Amino acid sequence: MIILLAMLGLMISCQTPAVDGNATSRAKNVILLIGDGMALPQITLGMYHLDRMISLERFAVVGLHKSHAYDDLITDSAAGATAFSCGVKTYNGAIGVGPDTVAVKTILEMCEDRGMPTGLVATSTIVHATPASFAAHVKSRRDYEDIALDMSDSEVDIMIGGGKKYFDRREDEKDLLSDMQENGYMVSHFADKDLGELSFDVDQNVMYLTADSDPLPVAQGRDYLPQASDVALSYLAEKSGDKGFFLMIEGSQIDWGGHANNQDYVLSEFTEYEKVIGNMLNWAEQDGETLVVVTADHETGGLTINPGSRRDSLVTAFTTGKHTAMMVPVFAHGPGADAFAGIYENTAIFDKLKSVLGF
Ligand code: MG
Ligand code: ZN
Repeated sequence: MIILLAMLGLMISCQTPAVDGNATSRAKNVILLIGDGMALPQITLGMYHLDRMISLERFAVVGLHKSHAYDDLITDSAAGATAFSCGVKTYNGAIGVGPDTVAVKTILEMCEDRGMPTGLVATSTIVHATPASFAAHVKSRRDYEDIALDMSDSEVDIMIGGGKKYFDRREDEKDLLSDMQENGYMVSHFADKDLGELSFDVDQNVMYLTADSDPLPVAQGRDYLPQASDVALSYLAEKSGDKGFFLMIEGSQIDWGGHANNQDYVLSEFTEYEKVIGNMLNWAEQDGETLVVVTADHETGGLTINPGSRRDSLVTAFTTGKHTAMMVPVFAHGPGADAFAGIYENTAIFDKLKSVLGF
């Protein structure tokens, strides 16, 4: 009888479509990599341009998500990231709030509640829509100072990104950086120390600001993302002990290249981000207990690769300066990765992460 029930259970689980589901295996750590505006056209462009096997080709599990917002087929990065962080479809511009503007708990906050250390790394300001949606709850993405206030009051263990001015030169004249220092953060910034010169122990939280406002594009000399990602990863790995960690790393400016309809901008940002993806995957493969998920919030630019293209001379065209509604690929590796196969809503990424982490 027991054997029969076990077999029945097996049959039922085999019939469950992967898209409903939720992971059966647990991961200790999650690294979520969001290439803003990095959908299939940008990945394809980068792959042919680089003319080698790219890190994304190493992922065995690939799925697609439907990126649309609550009331708009075309999402922005705020609604897109809130779908991942909170599991709700919301309006464009919403940061960690639902369509009714009420705050929704984020996956990062759930991890914090459980005592897992967390990290956010971006090549935009740290208060920009994508990182903000994991640690702030604000009606509008434009309210950068309100977002900074939320983030300074969050319990994110390590934050690396631009936007110093939103913390220390504010209309309300608060100095959030000294408040954070009082609350146990090691605070530093681009004008104080290079990232490589930072010394801290894991008892402290870390806030490192890479620029006063937006960090530069790679093509104009920004180069911190690979190092920042490694710093955040080793800090979290050491700090987490048995508890595991949650790390979100954004390649923010792939999107900005798309908005500018600038192929070289897209390529240089993609090339740097692709390297970071490879580094994180290398670490996760060694670790064996880490789920790595790579996706984008949306496609940007309506980019395509036209007839007449060769690898060394790609004939591209952009169809818009905005985002598009194209489905977006999701790449997964590690325990629980199988749940990311199939076609699903962007909000399902939240559900799957929650399930993999055992919430
Ligand atoms: Mg973004
Ligand atoms: Zn955009």
